[in-house]
Order: sequence, then C-alpha cells, then structure tokens
Amino acid sequence: METEIIYAEDDYSNEAINRAVALLEDGEIVALPTETVYGLGANALDADAVAKVFAAKERPSFDPLIIHLGSREQIHEVCDLSPELDKVVQQLMQEFWPGALTMVLPKKDVIPDIVTSGMPTVAVRMSGHPVMKEICKVFGKPIAAPSANRFGRISPTSASAVMKELGGKIPLIIDGGACNDGLESTIIRVEVGEKRPQLHLLRAGPVVKEQLQKIGKVIRKKKPRDVSEAPGQLESHYAPAVPLYIFEKPEDFRPDEGKTYGLLSYRGQAKDGYMDLHDWEVVEELSPGKGKLAEASVRLFHVLRLLDESGVDAIVAETVSETGLGVAINDRLRRASVTIH
Ligand code: AMP
Ligand code: MG
Repeated sequence: METEIIYAEDDYSNEAINRAVALLEDGEIVALPTETVYGLGANALDADAVAKVFAAKERPSFDPLIIHLGSREQIHEVCDLSPELDKVVQQLMQEFWPGALTMVLPKKDVIPDIVTSGMPTVAVRMSGHPVMKEICKVFGKPIAAPSANRFGRISPTSASAVMKELGGKIPLIIDGGACNDGLESTIIRVEVGEKRPQLHLLRAGPVVKEQLQKIGKVIRKKKPRDVSEAPGQLESHYAPAVPLYIFEKPEDFRPDEGKTYGLLSYRGQAKDGYMDLHDWEVVEELSPGKGKLAEASVRLFHVLRLLDESGVDAIVAETVSETGLGVAINDRLRRASVTIH
C-alpha cells in the first residue's frame, strides 16, 4: 500500500480534514497530528476499523486504546458517569481540556470491547491540536487513536517519523507539523473519593502532578505496578533499536572495547557528569544551552530517533531532575532503557 502525506496548514486545510474524515467513515485508519504525539486513528465505534489499528501497529490485544472526542459534551455518549463523578470530570475538563490529559472512566456499551481490551472503563481525551480538533468535530464520532508507531517503539512526533514507522501499512498521514508537547498524554483514573477527588496517576505526561493537585489528591502507585490497572504500561517501551543505558552515576558506565557510543545529554554540559566521560561518537542534546524541561520533552523522541539512526552500537542517556515534566521524561527514558533502575 502506498502511504500519502497531506500537509494541513497551521489552522487546517479542508482537503486534509475531508480526506481524513472520508477514510474514517469508510472504516479505514489514518495517522493524525495531536499536541502530544502523532496518533493512528479509527472510528472508535467500529470494531473492524479498530482491529486495523492493532494490526498496523502489531499491538497486542491486551493494550487498550485512548479515544478522542470533539467536544466536552460528547463524554456522555461514551462514559457512564454518576452525578458525583460527573462533577469531578467537569472540573477536570474545564481545567485541562482540550489538552494532554486522558481520563479513565466507566464506559458505555457503545464502545466495543476491542477498544478497552474488555475492561469496563475507557480512556478519553480531547486534543487541543487545531487539525485533530477539527477532524474530531467534523467526524462527530469518537476516534480511537494510539500513538502511530509500531508496538514498543519510539512514539512519532512528526509526520516523517510516522512514515518511518508505518509507511506502506496505512493509506494516509495528515501532517500537522511537529508536536508541541512531544510526550504522550498524562493518564489518570478518576474517583470521587470521600473528601477530595482521587486521581490515580497511571502514566506521567505533559500535565504534571502539581497541576492536578488543584483538583484532587494525586495517587501514584509505586512498583510493582498492577498491570491490570493500566495494561499497556509495560516496563519496556518507547525503545530504540539499539540498546539504551542509563546509570545511577556517570562512573558506572564501562564502555566495551571496540564499541561506539552516542550520548543523549540533557543540556550538553560537562557538569552533568557525562560529556567528558568518554569520546562519544555522537552527542545529541535535549535542551541545548540552559536546560529547559519543556524543550527537553518536545525533543525527546526526536533525539532518540536521531541517535538510533546514527549508527552507534549503544546509547547512554543522562536523566533529568525528577520534578514537573522531568517525571515524565525520566519515565520514558527508563522504559526505553535495557536496564530499569
Ligand atoms: P497509547 O494510546 O499508545 O498512548 O497508550 C494508551 C494507554 O492508555 C494504554 O497503554 C493503557 O495503559 C492506557 N489505557 C487505555 N485504556 C485504559 C483503561 N481503560 N484503563 C486503564 N488504562 C488504559
Ligand atoms: Mg503508545
């Protein structure tokens, strides 16, 4: 199959929107831009269309998908909310939608089991990307859209990255430019709680704990993870093809004779302990200069791809401070690494 790329202007072009919607209506799959990473979309109400997403990604059926809505009101078409839960959800939507927050909520029967891997809950979000928002609105039905990469690989943050992952397997990629956040959405399971809403953090992402605390108590399970709670959150994920190592401290790095290494550096500074440690074949910086976590998030998957394609035998990555967006960045680095620390 030949994969076509259509460029959508900063706001949106009618041709791109119409072509994407026509494919979705035909039960086909199409790669779509969002502010987090590119998604591979299908009509969430059509089990056969959703099956094509699993097939193209080679994604196991136990890993449920996130569905995207075109409006806040649409949540009642897909989720079964008690009045108490609805109140909390309204607050969260008001604060964070459209945006990079996914909520796991009780589902209605219209959502086929294949979307949720048979679970009674569904993960929902509303994207703030102008092109995705318009496609969701015009299509009118929820769109199931996991990241547009092969299972376990690096999430794509540009149309060209999608082409590398899924070229030849899907009919169309809508190019909406580089992703603003660059990391997958934050996922929370929402509960009413006795005093305050309970927000169970299932995946760290662009909406950080400090922001969520405004609405409720944020609960993060320490390891071992309960796999039944967020089934797709495998420890090994987002992985480049060559091994990636992270170390507790720089001195733990012991290069193998004759092997070449690339460094994924936070800000390219010797004081972080890695720049002068070895004669790196290639160095890529997450946030050149001062070091900004937002810039590092946006660039993370792009830089991982560059290092993966650079021809080195292995990658060594510096971690960043475990605050704000740093929590999500370190989480992705750990999952991309061959050893979990
Ligand atoms: P992706 O769409 O690839 O960014 O990943 C979606 C992730 O959302 C899955 O890997 C799950 O961990 C999580 N998820 C989706 N649906 C549910 C659900 N019903 N309950 C808990 N986690 C979910
Ligand atoms: Mg994914």
